[in-house]
Amino acid sequence: MVDLKGQYEFIKERINSSVIEVIESTAYINGPEVHAFQKELEDYLGVKHVIPCANGTDALQIAMMGLGLKSGDEVITADFTFAATVEVIALLGLTPVLVDVDPINFNIDIEAMKAAITPKTKAIVPVHLFGQCADMDAIMEVAKEHDLFVIEDNAQAIGATYTSKDGSKQKAGAIGHVASTSFFPSKNLGCYGDGGAIFTNDDDLAHTIRGIVNHGMYKRYYHDVVGVNSRLDSIQAAILRAKLPHLDNYNKARQDAARKYTAALSGHENIITPTICENCDCHVFHQYTLRVLNVDRDALVKHLNENDIPCGIYYPVPLHLQKAYRDDRYDEANFTVTNQLAKEVISLPMHTELEDDQIEYITSKVLEFVNK
Ligand SMILES: *Cc1c(COP(=O)(O)O)cnc(C)c1O
Repeated sequence: MVDLKGQYEFIKERINSSVIEVIESTAYINGPEVHAFQKELEDYLGVKHVIPCANGTDALQIAMMGLGLKSGDEVITADFTFAATVEVIALLGLTPVLVDVDPINFNIDIEAMKAAITPKTKAIVPVHLFGQCADMDAIMEVAKEHDLFVIEDNAQAIGATYTSKDGSKQKAGAIGHVASTSFFPSKNLGCYGDGGAIFTNDDDLAHTIRGIVNHGMYKRYYHDVVGVNSRLDSIQAAILRAKLPHLDNYNKARQDAARKYTAALSGHENIITPTICENCDCHVFHQYTLRVLNVDRDALVKHLNENDIPCGIYYPVPLHLQKAYRDDRYDEANFTVTNQLAKEVISLPMHTELEDDQIEYITSKVLEFVNK
């Protein structure tokens, strides 16, 4: 699904020397590499504050802690995503409110989101799923009207650019009140272990969060709030500094591969290819995900695997049907899209090193199966 070794080969010297420098410096925690990476990512994203942390799940949790969300507060998020989002809502004693997604872009459905708002709703967590920006204009408008926080889960869309209705452009993660991301190795900007970050333009929130990630300390050994220990280590920061200058090219390589997949697969009556916007950069293809109609999806997976093609099912079970998150409040009639997508989606290999002949081979094997 990913070719981390191939990507490493191109930047091996810089990575190796940066890692060795950190080891020799002995500044393993909160060293200069972490601060430099933080600044470089702030510049890249156009946000005032980046607060590095240990992983993308912590980033979501810390963002919610920083906003002061309290037990009983309702937080709306998409039913069709990785479980981290709903997991941290539940862990903090908040009430998750899962809603259906849009069948075209797989992101939170705006009407479903509006319908889920109650007097207890405090925040919305849009997830820019598979690398494509959610409808942030609509989300920010609804949030403003109801006085809600917006926490962007940007784990899959770092580097994507969102173009608003008025033509202004912002990086995904720079739009909501606060955002989280993950540097898990297979993410668009991945390190060689775990890593994550929180972004915000709000000075006070940034200050609060900087304390939370460090045991609630604003002055050493004075604990003002309940915090956590969540840090990006200096070696990972050094690796991310080496990779950040390549992020735009990495995302372009993903977009090119997506275009080639789509050229080969679009127009087939049993296949729905993902939308590709030609005039914007709102999709950075963390995943290239097809919907297959009237096709035995699991047999297609088997066919591809038998031909040495890895593929992924993201995600096989909607969150509202997961044992941990089932709730009598949910009505199946409100989840028709996620229930359908869970049966139809299949993600093809997607990374920065895909060659044309690999794409041709993969698409030919997909077509061979669906044409059978
Ligand atoms: C990967 C991911 C996370 C969690 O990131 P980790 O660094 O693995 O904790 C959260 N949300 C989404 C949408 C993700 O894809």
